[in-house]
Parts: sequence; structure tokens; C-alpha cells
Amino acid sequence: MTALASFENLTKRYGTGIAVDDLSFAVPEGEVCGLLGPNGAGKTTAIRALLGLARPTSGSTTLLGMNPGERGFTAAVRNVGTLIEGPALYGRATARQNMRIEADAIGLTDPEAEIRELLELVGLTERADTRCGSFSLGMKQRLGLGIALMGRPRLVVLDEPTNGLDPAGIVEIRELIKRLPERGTSVLVSSHLLAEIQLMCDRAVILQRGKLIAEGTIAQLLDGDGTGYVVRVDPKLTEQAMGTLGRVGLSADRDADDSIVVDGVIENGKEISQPLAQAGIYVHELQRQSVDLEQVFLRLTDESHDESPVEKPALAGVSDAV
Ligand code: ATP
Repeated sequence: MTALASFENLTKRYGTGIAVDDLSFAVPEGEVCGLLGPNGAGKTTAIRALLGLARPTSGSTTLLGMNPGERGFTAAVRNVGTLIEGPALYGRATARQNMRIEADAIGLTDPEAEIRELLELVGLTERADTRCGSFSLGMKQRLGLGIALMGRPRLVVLDEPTNGLDPAGIVEIRELIKRLPERGTSVLVSSHLLAEIQLMCDRAVILQRGKLIAEGTIAQLLDGDGTGYVVRVDPKLTEQAMGTLGRVGLSADRDADDSIVVDGVIENGKEISQPLAQAGIYVHELQRQSVDLEQVFLRLTDESHDESPVEKPALAGVSDAV
């Protein structure tokens, strides 16, 4: 696995506060990697360190194999597209002119075809010759993303790219980001929106108070939780069924609607239906519980609260995202 960016025991303190705490992970080539955490979790600080904009207190980062400060790092950064804290655009210049300015900055000799393609990709062909000072926030973000993609970088680093966008804008940017690996550009994208990370990323790193609390592909992160079942039997037999499941080592709880929620590592629904059938209880319904990253996050933060009681961080869930 080629890592385009990596964090090795990165710690960043501001005075007595700790913004990033011993963070280690890698961004593999060919994937969209999400950095997920509530406000203040340390996402921006980690990204700033990666780009050489914040000096680590300890630990290190590499970008395309280079450490900030190393000779050649500035050239490496130029080969990485970035969209951090909103795009820096010239309001009096048109979308096309802003793209040309970037093309000149990175030394592209004949960028016209690429500018056309990128304007199309970000849906701005029709507004290409409009001054971007009049653009909506969503259009500016899309132009910023187009500029970040100039020169087909191997990696783009996007800090909360959907912040401030309306629902339609969020969907557009998300769909665009998802397709970037197909064009040869891998992605590191931060967000506090769980649904967004789940929908557009291949893998995610979950941060809380600067610390990595979970990491893996979205499937792996969900799998750890996706093992529960909801079982329905004749309501008169619910209590008896719970006893039967308990005796074979399963954790069974009654839900409000008289269904039974069975937790634990269950490979196959047969592990539930068989003991019940042997006890003469027929299963009316057996359903694998669907989980999302929100539940994973809540479970993980509950676990870490057990170790050190702190306030539950506010993380925007599925209902807040589109
Ligand atoms: P947000 O989504 O709100 O930007 P984040 O996950 O990106 O959150 P950071 O901006 O990295 O989090 O902030 C992490 C912590 O570090 C916060 O407690 C923040 O107040 C603190 N912090 C960040 N930058 C500085 C700074 N320059 N000086 C002092 N404290 C800082």
C-alpha cells in the first residue's frame, strides 16, 4: 500500500491545551480517506501540520514521502491540491481566470483543455466567464475544488469542503469527491458530518479530543457494530425466548415494541433461530440491525467516557446531513 500522506505520533499543543494527541495513520493511494470528529477534535490542526502550516510539538508527518522542512517539501505541497478554510479566489476575476492564475502558479504550460475539463467537472462551464465575486458559497467551493484539482494532483486535502453549503451543494460536492480516485486523485477530507463521511469515504479515522479513537474502512468500522439482530416471536413467549437466548450466551434485551434486541458477535441468524426452535419457540421475524457511523461513534465515545468522564461531543449525525 502506497501512503500519500502519513501521521506518525503527531502531537500538537497550544499552551496547556492539546489539539492533536499522538495521532498516527496513513492515507492510502486510490482512496477517499475521511477525518471525522466533532468541532475542536483536531482535524484542522492535523491537516495544517501535514501541509507544513503548523509545527508539531512532537511526532511527524509526511506528504508524498516528504517531511515539512525537508528540501523539496514545497515542491511536494505544490503537487497536492488543497482546499482549507474556503478557497482563496480573486473576486474581480472570472472562474476561468482564477483557474488560469492557479495553472500559472503551478507552471502548467498549456492548461486550456484542463481548465475546460475542470470547469465541466465542477459544473461551472456556464458561469466560466462570470466574475466569481458574485458567486454563491456553493459555487465558490466548487471553483475552489476545481482549482485544487488543477494539474491532476495525486492527492487533494480538503478541510470541511461542504461547510456552509445548502443541501443540494453538499450532495454535488460529495458526489464529485467520491469520483476523484477514478481520475487518479486520492483524497483526505475532514468533516464533522457522520453521514457525509459514511457516504463519500472508503475509510475513516475518527478523532475525539485530538486522539484517534477508531480507524478502518467504512465496512470495518460498521462491522464491529453490525452484528446485532432484532427478533420477534409470539409476544406471550418473549420472556421465555429471552431466557433461552441468555442460556446460549447471547445478550438479549426487550425493546419497547416487544421485539428482542440481540447483541454480540453473531455470524449468522441461525445462532438465534436454532436455540429458539429447539425450545419450541418459532421466530416470526429476524432482522439484522442496520447501523451507521453515528451509532459507531456513540458507542466509541461511550467507551472512552467510561475511562474518563467528559462531556459528549456534538457531532452532526445523519439527520443533520444530506
Ligand atoms: P473545527 O471543525 O471546529 O475547526 P477541528 O476538529 O478542526 O475543529 P481544530 O481547529 O484543529 O479542531 O482545533 C483543535 C483544538 O485546538 C481546539 O480546542 C482549538 O481551540 C485548539 N486550537 C486550534 N488552533 C489553535 C491556535 N492557533 N491557538 C490555540 N488553540 C488552538
